[in-house]
Amino acid sequence: MAESIAFIDDEFVPVSEAKISIMEPTFTKSDVVYDTLSSRKGYIFRLDDHMRRFEASYRAMQLAPPYATDDIRRITAECIMRSGYGDTCVTLMATRGPFIDLADRDIRKCRNGLMAVCVPYYWVLGKDKQTSGVNMVITENQRVPAGAIDARVKNFNWMDLTRGLLEAYEKGGDSALLCTPDGFLSEGPGFNIWLAKDGRLFTPRGNLLEGVTRRSVFDLAQELGVETSEKPLSPEDLRGADEAFTSTTAGGITPITQVDGKTLGNGAPGILTTRLTDEYWRRRDAGWCGTRPEEVLQDRDVA
Ligand code: PLP
Repeated sequence: MAESIAFIDDEFVPVSEAKISIMEPTFTKSDVVYDTLSSRKGYIFRLDDHMRRFEASYRAMQLAPPYATDDIRRITAECIMRSGYGDTCVTLMATRGPFIDLADRDIRKCRNGLMAVCVPYYWVLGKDKQTSGVNMVITENQRVPAGAIDARVKNFNWMDLTRGLLEAYEKGGDSALLCTPDGFLSEGPGFNIWLAKDGRLFTPRGNLLEGVTRRSVFDLAQELGVETSEKPLSPEDLRGADEAFTSTTAGGITPITQVDGKTLGNGAPGILTTRLTDEYWRRRDAGWCGTRPEEVLQDRDVA
């Protein structure tokens, strides 16, 4: 029977058995970085890109997980294989870990750890929104400035994103798009954003996570001969766009059909959005940028 699997304290266990101490800065200070990747039809998507971003994140926070990158690749693959799920999301976490002596709160002396969790594939904005599109609220709550938290380091310091999401729900929206303190579009809780105008694609530049799916949209657009540009974008740019969509590991490409409750474009998923979505999933199904977990595990025998 398929079940969600975690890797913690050097062991693979059912998710319900994966627990950490309430004393750990991992929990009390969100002192942990992470990465989320996905597998579909037996292929892990862009494994090396996720590994590179994960490593950049933990290095930025002076975390040293007790496993080398190759081991983390195998742990990822093994979580997927053990789970028995066809399509999965796997979250890797590099933790500050427990204090060795509770009387000594020097975080440099914590025992850094590595955790992983594999669950059935999920759609962060809801699968039904693939067809209806989302009502995106541009929130009053701002994205934290880069000088405080570098959003390129994938982190759980989500107070700004969570406040934005609560604001969006209160305003009747499906999700939130936060702006930087100087008023430009950044990203939302779990996704990057794109807009299309006159057949060209635009995505914000600034303090945001450089999404692996965002990278994939750049690649797909290039192959489809669609011009892309990364630049500061204002809320007005989005309101005046022909179409818009989000990109994320957990849900791929999702159309935005309303902004602040007002119809965007013609109110239906856009032509370019639909083309990119179809292409994204068609390629994913065919193993595009994919690595089989079995292959990753075989590498162990060679090493
Ligand atoms: N931005 C934020 C804040 C995210 O949390 C995520 C994914 O979790 C993304 C963007 C999308 O990144 P990716 O495409 O790598 O999943």
